[in-house]
Amino acid sequence: RLNAATAAAWVRAISAAVSENAEYLTRLDAAIGDADHGVNMRRGFAVAVTTLDAALPDTPGEVLVRTGTALVGKVGGVSGPLYGSMFRVTGRHLADAETVGPDELLEALEAGLQMVRRLGDARPGDKTMVDAFVPALDAFGAAVRDGADLARAARAAAHGAEEGMRATVSMVARKGRASYLGSRSRGHQDPGATSTALVFQALAEVLG
Ligand code: ADP
Ligand code: MG
Ligand code: MG
Repeated sequence: RLNAATAAAWVRAISAAVSENAEYLTRLDAAIGDADHGVNMRRGFAVAVTTLDAALPDTPGEVLVRTGTALVGKVGGVSGPLYGSMFRVTGRHLADAETVGPDELLEALEAGLQMVRRLGDARPGDKTMVDAFVPALDAFGAAVRDGADLARAARAAAHGAEEGMRATVSMVARKGRASYLGSRSRGHQDPGATSTALVFQALAEVLG
């Protein structure tokens, strides 16, 4: 089960992953955006980790809410408010539970994804982070219905996210900066879908 300490470990693992992959994410964004996605993600998650280092909240929900607040405030670019709101809504959905099982985490993440979709108005196929998020939660849900524990569900989600990320290569962007390129956005992997794959890889890593 997820508790405050493992939730914080997740955020630290995301921070490490986006920091290690910052140049990669920025290179992907240079091809179809404005070359700042790695910088945005690294800065946002560094602030989130600093916040959690200063005071570890009592519940996983509060860990995610504070993470989201840091992201909303500190990330330039559309990914800050989108990821920030996702973590805030996910955290709020967990309410004051001290530990959280697979189905509760799934439900909360689904609420978070809904918020991303409401704010960004992106549908699957639009070549955004939604294209990694949706298959991640589909795979998470299938694993949960199959009786998986949190570790196995998280591994399934990481696989789903990675497949979704790869599938963005052949898509034409209909949202975000990449959409300005029209059909020239085809052939490039979406940076936000790539960072979403890192988010779920990090979850699998800390629970595994
Ligand atoms: P910006 O484009 O403002 O510089 P980032 O580079 O940090 O922001 O993030 C870009 C990523 O944000 C894209 O690769 C895409 O995955 C995601 N994104 C952009 N617009 C939307 C949207 N409307 N809905 C969902 N995700 C989006
Ligand atoms: Mg950008
Ligand atoms: Mg930008």
